[in-house]
Amino acid sequence: AHLDRIAEVDGDLNAFLHVSAEEALATAADVDARRSAGDELGPLAGVPIAIKDVVVTKGLPTTAGSKILEGWIPPYDATLVERIKAAGLPILGKTNMDEFAMGSSTEHSAYGNTRNPWDLDRIPGGSGGGSAAAVAAFEAPLAIGTDTGGSIRQPGAVTGTVGAKPTYGGVSRYGLIAMASSLDQAGPVTRTVLDAALLHELIGGHDPRDSTSIPEALPRLADAARLGAAGDLKGLRVGVVKELSGEGYQEGVSARFAESLDTLRALGAEVVEVSCPHFTYALDAYYLIMPAEASSNLAKFDGMRFGLRVQPSEGPVTAERVMAATRGTGFGDEVKRRVILGTYALSAGYYDAYYGSAQKVRTLVQRDFAAAFDQADVLVSPTAPTTAFKFGEKLDDPLAMYLNDVATIPANLAGVPGVSVPNGLSDDGLPVGFQILAPAKADDRMYRVGAALE
Ligand code: GLN
Repeated sequence: AHLDRIAEVDGDLNAFLHVSAEEALATAADVDARRSAGDELGPLAGVPIAIKDVVVTKGLPTTAGSKILEGWIPPYDATLVERIKAAGLPILGKTNMDEFAMGSSTEHSAYGNTRNPWDLDRIPGGSGGGSAAAVAAFEAPLAIGTDTGGSIRQPGAVTGTVGAKPTYGGVSRYGLIAMASSLDQAGPVTRTVLDAALLHELIGGHDPRDSTSIPEALPRLADAARLGAAGDLKGLRVGVVKELSGEGYQEGVSARFAESLDTLRALGAEVVEVSCPHFTYALDAYYLIMPAEASSNLAKFDGMRFGLRVQPSEGPVTAERVMAATRGTGFGDEVKRRVILGTYALSAGYYDAYYGSAQKVRTLVQRDFAAAFDQADVLVSPTAPTTAFKFGEKLDDPLAMYLNDVATIPANLAGVPGVSVPNGLSDDGLPVGFQILAPAKADDRMYRVGAALE
């Protein structure tokens, strides 16, 4: 049914870069056989899933939305893909994204825009717009995204889906094509909070192949979602982050947010205001740290090892000139912009002024979180300041595009988990997201509160 749905609507949406119909049907048949044989299967066995194209999948094309990886077939699976396969979830295919996960609209994909199923003239968010659109349009019940500065949560908000970024280290990064290694986390994109918790439990937990993977077991996430769904939040302290609301937030977004705070109060939560003064600088710090790490991570795309290789059109064929020709042709403008920005920020004369200062701000953001979590069990804000914008609206203005992540970025800098849950429709008839942040390793709390709001 999902493959039929993809055939029916994906011509309009372009959520998928590759559909792996045969493989998906084979897995489904295998799960049926195991079920008939009386095998004990997990709760998501047989439920199809779509995977963001930045996650490597053995034998299936993986481009990260870039021309530079066109035609590359990974020889191995990411750890999270191994776990998905072992649990019997048919993989429907790979989803569209901004090139190397750089963007908030999926307009930076080298393979065309993904459209928002709510309004085909609007962006589905980014960088994981393909995964969010696929789930919102019922092409897939589950999807995987990655979130470096909001790329799971913001697409969730603007498509009316649930998008969860786990605690940094909670889900293995082995087999993710790295953007910024100290910020990247993979996580679930779903239609319900319980689905997200179940998928998080499936893909999460320790992996010796990722040196930043948390060694202890995950908290009980699905149980927390069930508890929240029962509607009891008595005694829970909810902190509204002063710096993540008000000016710059669309009226309908603020109105829906205020209504959900009332709902939380009605369920017994105590709503308090908290201040995180350094969040004001989080975006600036992110746009130094992220490009710095990305410029280093992307150095491996040199025309020698993976995918595209372009020979210089004239002159001698040296390794350096092949690299320049390949990267000049294979990378899009946004990727080039960030590689240049990151290289500059890391260069000897500027290191302290830019990268060094940004790292200090990162520490201040972490301290703000620690202080806020002394006063509240979870922190909340609108996920994004606006609903889905129109194609082209912010494409020529990188700063305006970057500002869409103002509420999601602090969590990545601190490594804390966050989820965006649907929060009704704004006055323009488009979906709004409600963001819940929890302390590191307390991902269960965000699912509890998220499920209570459903
Ligand atoms: N939109 C942000 C950026 O462009 C976040 C991207 C992400 O989370 N991968 O960097």
